[in-house]
Amino acid sequence: MSMKKNTADIYHDIRNTVFKMFEQDPYMAYDHVDGFEQTLGARVHDELIAELEFYGKYRDQYELVLSDGDKDITDFTGKLDGHPFHFDVTTNDIYLELPHDDPFHRGEYKYKIAVVEKETGVLKEFVDINFPYCKKCKEGRVYDIALLLPPKDALTETKKPKYSQVHLSICGSCGESTEIERLNDRSIVDYTEQRKLLEAHSHQLTQEGKAPLDINEEINKYALRTTRYLKYAFDNILIGSGGNKFQITDPKTMTGYFETALEWRHPDISRVLPIEFGRKLAE
Ligand SMILES: [Zn+2]
Repeated sequence: MSMKKNTADIYHDIRNTVFKMFEQDPYMAYDHVDGFEQTLGARVHDELIAELEFYGKYRDQYELVLSDGDKDITDFTGKLDGHPFHFDVTTNDIYLELPHDDPFHRGEYKYKIAVVEKETGVLKEFVDINFPYCKKCKEGRVYDIALLLPPKDALTETKKPKYSQVHLSICGSCGESTEIERLNDRSIVDYTEQRKLLEAHSHQLTQEGKAPLDINEEINKYALRTTRYLKYAFDNILIGSGGNKFQITDPKTMTGYFETALEWRHPDISRVLPIEFGRKLAE
């Protein structure tokens, strides 16, 4: 028994395959991506083509290496003016318009965003990530996160429950949040459900005499894969991913409350975001 693949896993596999293919024959790689346009959706398809074009044009100049999708959320590592850096590729021009201040970095690696042209992958600019000011409190910065949510109403569930993935912007200071976009990909389950599936799978493995899964490691991998996919599906650099978690206040009666909590934060930018929000930001 193996775990069922969701759209993010399929994207992960296609990405790894096409970059390998690209080394042999770029046209074969583009054809391969085109074959998955229906599965991935037009936006994700176009971003992957732009990423391939970008890679082909700049791999020597910036010594580009594709990141391991199960270990690193950023798209590539490379060298910029002789210094190591890692970065995400986007075709979203919003990142050119934000004011720039202190760059983020992880150890010696600076974090950048490569804003590239759609279709051609031509680099417009490497920019430092920045965040707009909150319109409500005018002090905090607004961040993009993704929430993975369970079906809203268990009673109306038919055979296939309707899971949602929500793109939210949230102010790190006053907590004002806005829902930007919502997908209903049935294959991408919320973290609580994924944890249950992993535990069942791990149990199955031990019954077959195999080693159990490291659930926390698997959840981190799940977060990385889904966030990378949703980053393209939402056309935004996501710096956190989470869901609604039941927090028990009285273990005797199992009473408590639901609140939105993050399961994953972008390692380069994690210091700006809280982990728990005290209330549900969406459902
Ligand atoms: Zn605010």
